Amino acid sequence: MKPLSLDRLVPSYIKSFEAYIPSKPDEELKKLYHTPFLYRLNNNENSLGAPPAAQEVIKKFTPSRAAIYPSGDSYYLRQKLANRFHMDPDQFLIGNGANEVITFVVKAFCQKGDNIITADKTFAVYEWVATFSGFEARLVPLRDYAFDDEGILERIDKRTKIIFICNPNNPTGTYWDKERLKRFLDRIDNRNIVVVDEAYFEFVEKEDYPDCISLIPEYPNLVVFRTFSKMYGLAGLRIGYLAGNLDVVNTIRKTCVVYSVNAIAQEAAHAALDDMEHIAKTRKYVKDGKDFLRKELIRMGLPYIIGEGNYIMIRLPINDTLAYRKLMNQGIMVRTMTGFRFPNHIRVTISGLPIMEAFINGLKKIL
Ligand SMILES: *Cc1c(COP(=O)(O)O)cnc(C)c1O
Repeated sequence: MKPLSLDRLVPSYIKSFEAYIPSKPDEELKKLYHTPFLYRLNNNENSLGAPPAAQEVIKKFTPSRAAIYPSGDSYYLRQKLANRFHMDPDQFLIGNGANEVITFVVKAFCQKGDNIITADKTFAVYEWVATFSGFEARLVPLRDYAFDDEGILERIDKRTKIIFICNPNNPTGTYWDKERLKRFLDRIDNRNIVVVDEAYFEFVEKEDYPDCISLIPEYPNLVVFRTFSKMYGLAGLRIGYLAGNLDVVNTIRKTCVVYSVNAIAQEAAHAALDDMEHIAKTRKYVKDGKDFLRKELIRMGLPYIIGEGNYIMIRLPINDTLAYRKLMNQGIMVRTMTGFRFPNHIRVTISGLPIMEAFINGLKKIL
């Protein structure tokens, strides 16, 4: 047999792509860092968990149903979303997390030589999917920690297909208000697909924050992402969705592999959507947590960046990887930000007060 020639088989854009290495399972981390417990403040999860109605659905799932394929296109969940937003069920596509719908959009619109535009310091998956699919990802530097509309408009060329805006931005928490977003969309004038990732939509309390799903009739090139991983506490089940103009979504639908969303996720998400009380409770603990952290960090003299969303970024006088290890030894897991191009920064998920106090105490110990 001839030796396998990966060199010939693998495209150059895959060869040069650096694979992302996920964190080890909690049990392994606890052993590694000699800690009996772990506060997960690294992934912006909801520390209250899923809404009670969704937890009930999960408990009641009949095990024998595991042998049966789920609805291939999340039929009932799309109906529910359609009723909620007064749209056609076909204007929604459900994915295995919002992460999966990113791949649908890139596949639907990009071909050889095309590019996408996003920011340099934002959720990295837009850039990764474009790059490992062989398309150029143009990264426009943030301006004042926010997406730079003028900078993005300058980088658009004939081959630009998609612009990804993370609103509010992960990890900086900045957002474009409705006026700024509409001004941007007016200037794009339907020449490109504009994706607005609203993964943290349910956390935002500001009056001038735009609800992009309501703007879809006005802007047919607008595609909106939402997820059940953050506010709705279903990150482990992997479910998110996109919404858009009917023709646009019918095009994107061609690229999605059916059956990627499992039955429990579909049913739990369906139940979670009704629980307004859970949203209110979550918002309350996030607000209290933010107030507490602001006060403590000012007292400690540590610069921080906080905005909408259930997270805060903190600049440390030490290396972020070193800080990560030292906090892990105390059972506190944060996110290092060097990979997000914010060296010496950590991102911390806002949790309930006792855990935030433990975090501040841990931070004081290591600095
Ligand atoms: C967490 C997150 C997502 C992905 O969510 P999943 O539905 O879990 O894949 C997408 N965008 C942003 C900005 C996020 O922070």
